[in-house]
Amino acid sequence: MTAATCASAIAGALLLTVASGATGAAAADAGSASDALARELLTQLIAINTTDTERGNVTTAAEAMAQRLRAAGFHAGDIQVLGPSERKKNLVVRLRGTGRHKPVLLIGHLDVVEARREDWSTDPFQLVEKDGDLYGRGTLDMKGPDAIMLAALIRLKQEGFKPARDIVLALTADEEGGSANGVQWLLEHHHELIDAQFVLNGDDYAVLTENGKPLFFQVIASEKVYADFQLRVTNKGGHSSEPVPDNAIYTLTRGLDRLAAYEFPFELNAVTREYYRRLAQIESPQRAADMRAILRDPPDREALARLSQEVVDRSITRTTCVATRLDAGHANNALPQRAQAVVNCRILPGHSPEEVRQRLVQVLSDPAITVSYLASDGTLYDEAPAVRGFAPPPLLPEMLTPLDRLVAQTWPGLKVIPAMSAGATDAKYTSTAGLPTYTFSPLTVDPNDDRSHGRDERIGVASFYQANEFFYRYLRMLTAH
Ligand SMILES: [Zn+2]
Repeated sequence: MTAATCASAIAGALLLTVASGATGAAAADAGSASDALARELLTQLIAINTTDTERGNVTTAAEAMAQRLRAAGFHAGDIQVLGPSERKKNLVVRLRGTGRHKPVLLIGHLDVVEARREDWSTDPFQLVEKDGDLYGRGTLDMKGPDAIMLAALIRLKQEGFKPARDIVLALTADEEGGSANGVQWLLEHHHELIDAQFVLNGDDYAVLTENGKPLFFQVIASEKVYADFQLRVTNKGGHSSEPVPDNAIYTLTRGLDRLAAYEFPFELNAVTREYYRRLAQIESPQRAADMRAILRDPPDREALARLSQEVVDRSITRTTCVATRLDAGHANNALPQRAQAVVNCRILPGHSPEEVRQRLVQVLSDPAITVSYLASDGTLYDEAPAVRGFAPPPLLPEMLTPLDRLVAQTWPGLKVIPAMSAGATDAKYTSTAGLPTYTFSPLTVDPNDDRSHGRDERIGVASFYQANEFFYRYLRMLTAH
């Protein structure tokens, strides 16, 4: 099916949805029943501690949701609870469709970051409603989105809806920490269970607001790659009363000065191009003109220089490396025998940490400075991984067209903006496995009040219900033809 015919099929589906929605109170009743169910699921999930601690147990949450799905009429054979660790099992459920297209996979993690009662103003493991917000560990990251995905699947099942592709939902362990990562494990050991044409990951909110006003609807379609490097200079040292020019600290800091002055090359990809193309439609005139000017080939240098003064734009258009730690010397009255620094890099997709390490060696341009790859467990390696970050997937029209339409319907005037994230989610596993992955949950959040991983994590009650209805409608449109 070509993009054009697909888009018109989707448009037709939308009209049908709107028409049937307008016919009566039945749809509204189904909507409020679904809201009540989503709320119940969220209440239950929050009350199950799924931290990576002795008190935490992801299997308990997976089993509880499996029970809900069986009660809602899913065939036992379409529900699996499985995993490499007794305490960290994953739930995979399939809503069977006509098989016309390859399945769509929905992913969400069940585990949460630790939260201590004494740090919070409410019990983090009880869902509490207060002044229009729902409080609890995981409300945002990401048991709220999990409950919404489950509620949508159950609603479609109970309506007897036959999607044009199977809808598979995987609720998993060990995204926040731990070594049994659920998505990675499922891909390695049960690929057939979660194979799909593309993936929707609920692990980030989509509607970004400022002072209560929605700015845009963000879909993350690409992620930067994280890498740490250690720079090190050694020297025979000596007595500080007899200084010599060859000093480990000076050698290292001269190299760091060269790094500070260096800028990695400007580079756009399919996702960041579309990001700027769409953002230019809602930005202030000067920024909008600059965004259009950097999209030209070759990009306008002055426009790029102006945009690059903004931290966000600089980080979107380049790999960045910055010194984050410094440590040298062993006594106040001795010449340093050692000087070292940690440099943290956020690498554009399509490039490997080893490629960046070699670039650092060139930029530091002093063989006395060794550059090692510093793994997350603290181990140093002479070379960094040569694996390139996954190339941004195409923005599939079967994903984007219904999203554009439904967003315009729900928030008139709001734009869908595909974006690249400097953070990392389980999307890195599905993307690396070749499954185009798009990350969003239709929740409304002010990024300045994003409390994921922090104290008093919360989501708005109205936003939760709105997101619940939105996601159901989107899933229906996405799989109607
Ligand atoms: Zn998360």
